[in-house]
This record gives sequence, C-alpha cells and structure tokens, in this order.
Amino acid sequence: SICYLNGGFVPRSEARISPMDRGFLFGDGVYEVIPVYGGRAFRLDAHLARLQRSLAGIGIANPHSHAEWTDLVQRLVAAHHWPAQAVYVQVTRGADTVRNHAFPHDLPPTVFMTADALAPIAPEQLERGVSAVSAADNRWLRCDLKTTALLANCLLRQLAVEQGCAETVLFRDGFLTEGSASNIFVVRDGVLLAPPKSHLMLPGITCDVVLELAAKHGQATEVREIREEEVHSADELWLTSSTKEVLPITRLDDKPVGSGRPGPVTRAMIDWFRQARIEECGA
Ligand code: PMP
Repeated sequence: SICYLNGGFVPRSEARISPMDRGFLFGDGVYEVIPVYGGRAFRLDAHLARLQRSLAGIGIANPHSHAEWTDLVQRLVAAHHWPAQAVYVQVTRGADTVRNHAFPHDLPPTVFMTADALAPIAPEQLERGVSAVSAADNRWLRCDLKTTALLANCLLRQLAVEQGCAETVLFRDGFLTEGSASNIFVVRDGVLLAPPKSHLMLPGITCDVVLELAAKHGQATEVREIREEEVHSADELWLTSSTKEVLPITRLDDKPVGSGRPGPVTRAMIDWFRQARIEECGA
C-alpha cells in the first residue's frame, strides 16, 4: 500500500521516520480517521475542521490548507482500489536533534497519511449487537483533542478485549463520557440521550451525524449529563465511530441491555445512517 510522508507518496513498507520524532518520543501529535465510501470521503470538511482544532489545541501550525488536504486525501484514495477505505492522517511536532520536553523552534511537522481497507460491518454484529464492559475514565482532561497519545485508550480497550468484549464504556465521576474509541448513545423510554460535548470527550463526527439524523427524522433527543445507573438500566445502547458507524451494544458488564437485542431506535438509526452515507457518497 502507498502512503504519504512529508511531501511524497511512497510504499508504506519503505516509509521511514526518525526515532527523534516527537510523535514517537512523546506522543506529541494529532490525527484523524476519515471513512471513504465509493472513492468519496464522508464528512471530509468536518474531519479537516477537527484536525485544525486539534492542531491549534496543541500549538502546531497547520502544515496544509483545506484545499491541499483535500487534494492529498483524494490522491491517497485514488492510489488504492478498495471500495471502502479508512484514511489515517497524522501530524506530529516533528523530529528534533535532542530529546527535550519543551517545543523546539522552527521544526517542520511530520505529516503522515495512510489508507486501509474498511471492511463492512458484519451483518451478524448489526443483528446481534456487541458486548461491552464499563470502567472508570482515567484519561487526561483534554479528551476533546484527537491526540496520538492514546496509551490510556489502549489500556481501556484491552480491558474489553480480555473479557471477550468489543468496547469499554467510560464513566467519570459517575457520568458517561464515551467509549475507548467511540461515542456512546443511550435510549430510555424512546428518548435518545447523548452527553454534552466537553473537554472530557471527543466531539465525534459520527456523533454529530447521528444527532443531525435524529433531528431530521423527528427522533426525541436530549443532550445532557447521563448518570452511570441510567446507562446500566438503558433500553438501548449503541456506539458510533467513523469506522464502526452505528453499532448496537446489547450486553454491558455481562448483563443484557434492555431486551438483549438491538432495539427499534437503534435499528432506525442504522438505516438512517446508511441512507445518509449513500446520499452523500453514493456507496
Ligand atoms: N471518541 C474517541 C475516544 C475516539 O477515538 C473516536 C474514534 N476516533 C470517537 C470518539 C468517534 O469519533 P468519530 O465519529 O469522529 O470517528
């Protein structure tokens, strides 16, 4: 597969970065994952806006204009034949000559982009849902920035995997934040609940799509703090992300969520999401 690194397209197996790169040494960088269907990036502008926000949040000047990013994404996508792809974009503060916590001056950022095939969600997962575990959210207080420093997220995801589950649902001070790599939605008494955006969670692009679709289709929705007990006694639960779209969670901490099957609001949202994707990308 072909990747983009610092100005050129090269085979991924031949791409090289310095061990002095601050992304490697400190996790000092930000990233995006952009889903592509039928050759068209879904919600590209929103992803590029979030990339800009993450860069600004950690004090890296955006190395490219919106038009340049769009062109790079299109060229990377065109270099691969997969019907659906996930484009990964990473910008780090660059490679220094010495290891020093403080920002170096005039260092060009490292820009890396790669694409992978995006497998369609297994129909069985959509029909049956996935299992999740819950855990205390022990990440830092700027989870709104999409940084490559993902150690806490990796450890939290591993908790789920070790229990045969797909995701870890996180709670801070008794309130729902998000998943280790997803946003979480709750349905109670027919009302869709989502936590308000804050420094404690990533403003998900798929999360915004879901909220838009709920409004468009007249689905009652409340954006408010959600208590841990409300998640554990939810009628329906699902996760969203750019690669998983809308995925039902039907078991939490070894207990069924509601009926233990994807509920009516979940199934409607999966359909609305698929329609939106096809309308916008043609696939
Ligand atoms: N929260 C976290 C911590 C994530 O890693 C992700 C996936 N990148 C999300 C939420 C979902 O965001 P999006 O819908 O933009 O992929």
